[in-house]
Amino acid sequence: MIVLKLWWEQLFPVAVLAVACLIALPFLGAVVALGLACLGLLLMLLSQLHNLIQLGRWVREPLPQSVPESRGAWDRAFTGLLHLTRRQLHVEARLSAALEQFQLAGAAMPEGVIVLDDKDRIEWCNPRAESYFGLSSTRDRAQHITYLIRARGFVEYLKEGQFGQPLVLRVTRGAAELSLSVQLVTYGGRQKLLLTRDVTRWEQLETARRDFVANVSHELRTPLTVVSGFLETLTDMPAEEQEMRARALTFMSEQTARMLRLIEDLLTLSRLESSSDQVRSEWVDIAGMARALHADALALSAGRHRVSARVETHLGLKGNAEELRSAFSNLVTNAVRYTPEGGEVELRWFQRQNQVGFSVRDTGIGIEPHHIPRLTERFYRVDRSRSRSTGGTGLGLAIVKHVLSRHDGRLEVQSELSRGSTFTAVFATERITHAFPGSDATPDESDPHPQPG
Ligand code: ADP
Repeated sequence: MIVLKLWWEQLFPVAVLAVACLIALPFLGAVVALGLACLGLLLMLLSQLHNLIQLGRWVREPLPQSVPESRGAWDRAFTGLLHLTRRQLHVEARLSAALEQFQLAGAAMPEGVIVLDDKDRIEWCNPRAESYFGLSSTRDRAQHITYLIRARGFVEYLKEGQFGQPLVLRVTRGAAELSLSVQLVTYGGRQKLLLTRDVTRWEQLETARRDFVANVSHELRTPLTVVSGFLETLTDMPAEEQEMRARALTFMSEQTARMLRLIEDLLTLSRLESSSDQVRSEWVDIAGMARALHADALALSAGRHRVSARVETHLGLKGNAEELRSAFSNLVTNAVRYTPEGGEVELRWFQRQNQVGFSVRDTGIGIEPHHIPRLTERFYRVDRSRSRSTGGTGLGLAIVKHVLSRHDGRLEVQSELSRGSTFTAVFATERITHAFPGSDATPDESDPHPQPG
């Protein structure tokens, strides 16, 4: 029906022209009537051509505001085009807003995202992926992914097509070594998403955990082997071998004590590491603690060293008395253990500008410079057999480091091989409290005269 109407609309002027010419024929003659008909047709043709030219011009730049105007069927066609372009513009705006949202979401993702086409060429990547692989989403677009990620493992992973498990790649970014977990996910047929996560920290923790378990097992295996060996010997030993029996029991109790010390140190470390909360704040009287530690050192030395203590300030520390005592006691014990008989050990509590420090100086075996940065690592020992024979667990300085860092302090180590060492725990101003109540604020020396054992 509409089609008929359109035809009728187009043919109506032709019909009117034909009827007018037929009416004019008897009056004007055949030639004039035919001339008029031709003129009318020519005008109609020109009008159609005009509309076609307008349409052609508009198609080159199809903006809704410049849709041509006309009459009749052409007007309806132009109006239809106007609606169509408006709808298209609306759809385009919605699509580009959705694309923008997608790109913003992709850019905000904590993981690296690379979109690959069906031939594994880069279509898009987010800033995180750019920084992981040194890519540029504009420069490297349409590049094959293996031109940019050349690691052999990755090329094989891509070729094999088994993407169920992620692959760990090691890459160098500037001075840093990164471990990246990469996983491909296929979608929409043959396209792929390459998701990347930085697992460097996790890998380091995993290595530390493995080392730790290996170290603890090794530390416990030696004394346990000794104890079980002696138990076997005791079982087979004739009842009259009293002296041998007593010796075996002494060895066993020494090894058991060593295992107990190790477990105690491990528990202390684990308590320090797991208590993420702020250190309990109380006023700690370090001068008093230094005197008590001096007495402990004298007992441990049992007369083999000259042990002294110098208290130069009565400023206190804000912190946890139990933790501080355990840290300082480790320094004192080490000084006694690593100083041969006849040597000297000096404890000192002092103020230095706006800091305070607790130092333990000894004239013992000393440490070569290259060992010093590693001393606070768990189970690190310069001389394994000496540490063991003097009852060491290899955890003492690790405990000291933890306690000091919980008290905003640091450990300074000065040492010279065969001449001795000074270990100093230094604390910043925020931890210093006023002179401890009841104490004398003037510097004193609790033991000015070195005590021969
Ligand atoms: P350990 O139980 O083996 O003494 P620590 O963590 O307390 O473990 O100390 C780590 C290592 O540092 C020791 O094995 C020892 O080699 C060295 N060390 C610590 N204190 C001293 C010291 N005062 N003089 C010499 N070496 C020391």
